[in-house]
Amino acid sequence: MGSAAFFFVFLLLTALLVSAADLYKVLELSKSASEQDIRKAYKRLSRKYHPDKNKEPGAEEKFVEIAHAYEVLSDSTKRQIYDRHGEEGLKAHEGGQAHYANPFDMFQSFFGGGGGHASQQVRKGPTSISEFEVSLADIYTGASIDFMIKKRILCDHCRGTGAASSNDIHTCNACGGQGVRIVRQQIMPGMITQSQVQCNECGGRGTVIKKPCPHCGGNKVMDHTQHYTLEVPKGSPEGHEVVFEGEADESPDWEAGDVVIRVRSKKEHGGWKRKESGLYWKETISVAEALLGFERNLTHLDGHVVELKRQGVTQPGFVQIIKDEGLPLFERPSEHGDLFVEYNVVLPAEISPETKKRLHAAFYPDGAGKHPTDEL
Ligand SMILES: [Zn+2]
Ligand SMILES: [Zn+2]
Repeated sequence: MGSAAFFFVFLLLTALLVSAADLYKVLELSKSASEQDIRKAYKRLSRKYHPDKNKEPGAEEKFVEIAHAYEVLSDSTKRQIYDRHGEEGLKAHEGGQAHYANPFDMFQSFFGGGGGHASQQVRKGPTSISEFEVSLADIYTGASIDFMIKKRILCDHCRGTGAASSNDIHTCNACGGQGVRIVRQQIMPGMITQSQVQCNECGGRGTVIKKPCPHCGGNKVMDHTQHYTLEVPKGSPEGHEVVFEGEADESPDWEAGDVVIRVRSKKEHGGWKRKESGLYWKETISVAEALLGFERNLTHLDGHVVELKRQGVTQPGFVQIIKDEGLPLFERPSEHGDLFVEYNVVLPAEISPETKKRLHAAFYPDGAGKHPTDEL
């Protein structure tokens, strides 16, 4: 059937529909959004509403709207016209007839379906990897931890161009906008080499800025402190990675890389230790307890009480295994590892003559056994 024709009509209809909507609102952005914000928003929203994935009514219309908004706002000329004169201005610019790209082709080329234009021009910035120490208590219970990252963001005044306004960006006179210049050099009489070098007037960009942006001083980027929340899942393994996509340093030259946080458990002095999902605890008991048995309460990482109970003799260094009192298993937090309690026996610093006499009598009931003192 004439599905192509149907699609064309559909596009015209949606074109009429979207003309009313604010393109920034469609991408959930403010007017000061940087090019990068626009890319990010398109990346996120176009995936969310792609009709292959999203079967809710209205998703396809939304997908087309998002593609259109991205098409206009990602093109600096079209964006400028739209900012000043709205959708009507765009139509006038394009000769009275709005022309939209096929939203599916656009999606395809954005996500690199065949090395399309959009995916070629994007270079990804460096990924920032940090270690984050988390208490075992937080790993046991799971936690949301607020933290801050100092990073560079594109100046929101000039949107990363470094110029006071778009009228202050001029084509470089030295290289005519090429970014490179041909240099002739005479190496020896009669021998001239020609080489192409980067234009030093414009640093190879082909444009020069007459009046730098007053907000960032022409630096294009600014220092910024951003707050994030790190979600630590119950039983996070050592080195568990939480990725904050596109949150590393911004630059006009790249699409911001990711911030990767690696979760490590804090080494707590003399306290709890972990090995995978096993928990280790050292408990100190007296000689009497080591010989006669005991009952003790151990307060666990989340405050619940584990009863430590031994009958008879406990050797120094003995390890008692308590089932299911270790860390929750990662992604299966209803199951737990085991708890290993190692017993340390302390001897008294000294004992009274009376106690000594009694112990002697207890250990050597028939008076046998030599003792090195003459107190008895
Ligand atoms: Zn130049
Ligand atoms: Zn600026």
